Amino acid sequence: MSQLKNKRVTRQRQLVYDCVIDRKDHPSANDVFADLQNTGIGIATVYRQLSAMVDEGILKSFEHSGKIRYDPLVAPHAHFVCSICDGIWDVDLPEDIFLMSPDFSNVEIEGLELTWKGVCESCK
Ligand SMILES: [Zn+2]
Repeated sequence: MSQLKNKRVTRQRQLVYDCVIDRKDHPSANDVFADLQNTGIGIATVYRQLSAMVDEGILKSFEHSGKIRYDPLVAPHAHFVCSICDGIWDVDLPEDIFLMSPDFSNVEIEGLELTWKGVCESCK
């Protein structure tokens, strides 16, 4: 990779990283793209950078309403989803929940996804 191209990739990566790393609203790639529109970054680059960060363990991703959402909180946690505004919030998991994992003999457990559903405070 040429130095110039390398520099551009680093800048694009930094833009995407800065946009998502402190967010608690679980943005989609389109949300990130909308936020970065005035930087001239392309949607394909946003997708590429986001999925690279998932591969590297910097972000987690999950599907919600047919869209991939990105989550900078990679520690185990649950979500609360509002059925009216589609907002997603982080919820702590009880620590002993991992003691309750089922005792499968032939599988390897990779994680747990738990989503509480309801109506949020502002939609109530
Ligand atoms: Zn989350």
